[in-house]
Amino acid sequence: MLDLFDLTGKVAIVTGASTGLGEGMAKALAQAGANVAGVARTSCESAGKKVEDAGTRFLEIRADLSSTEPVERILSETLKAFGRVDILVNNAGIIRRADALEFSEKDWDDVMNVNLKTLFFLSQRVANEFVRQGTGGKIINTASMLSYQGGIRTASYTSSKSGVIGLTRLLANEWAKYGINVNAIAPGYMVTNNTKALREDKARYEEILGRIPAGRWGTPEDLGGAAVFLASRASDYIHGFTIAVDGGWLAR
Ligand code: NAP
Repeated sequence: MLDLFDLTGKVAIVTGASTGLGEGMAKALAQAGANVAGVARTSCESAGKKVEDAGTRFLEIRADLSSTEPVERILSETLKAFGRVDILVNNAGIIRRADALEFSEKDWDDVMNVNLKTLFFLSQRVANEFVRQGTGGKIINTASMLSYQGGIRTASYTSSKSGVIGLTRLLANEWAKYGINVNAIAPGYMVTNNTKALREDKARYEEILGRIPAGRWGTPEDLGGAAVFLASRASDYIHGFTIAVDGGWLAR
């Protein structure tokens, strides 16, 4: 049974692998046997070390996903290094906070570009490669609690992450016939740079903590199991679903 989760010889592209949840998922995929191409604007040295410690190969790809310009290069560098691609984890994401009455067009565009537009076009490019390879493949998008809830002061983030769930379903519908599984993970409140401002506000931190049935904030390690599951043969009949890894937040 455990063979179903084995990723030995597989090649995964993980965006936003320089820190946080992307680094955690890169490590988990490597521990299951996958080689990893990590994408970010800054160094992925820490993730690279974790991947190599797990005994697989790591390729760093520096790219700014605020536009679709690097999409082709991300795939070509991956293929040059590893000869194939099997898994895409669309994890890179940003958030901007401001009242909706004052929310700027820049804060709208910046977030939508990284969180939704480039996610789509990178998925499209990699899916075409899955079809060309004739192998099928796995795409894992990163959603959020704000894919389900409205949130506050996060107009573009909530819109982008709500879009991620819808797009995950659409791509699953269109690409299941090619043996491509498109699913998503919705992390709850996790300790990363993304939530630094929230955690520094002690009142908000305690308020959030008090609502998490598991009684703690999540960590990048908490996503590992879901990431490996959705990247592996164990999830071959799962299409268009979003798994919440949230300590029970949505169950409240
Ligand atoms: P993080 O610590 O802020 O890391 C974000 C990652 O995305 C970094 O590796 C960053 O790399 C990369 N990134 C951001 N903008 C980029 C750009 N323009 N081009 C390339 N890479 C870019 O965030 P995180 O908490 O790990 O979040 C990862 C994902 O989970 C995001 O999609 C986030 O929305 C989602 N999420 C997080 C939480 C949470 O509680 N932390 C909850 C729900 C969902 P560089 O800065 O090096 O480019």
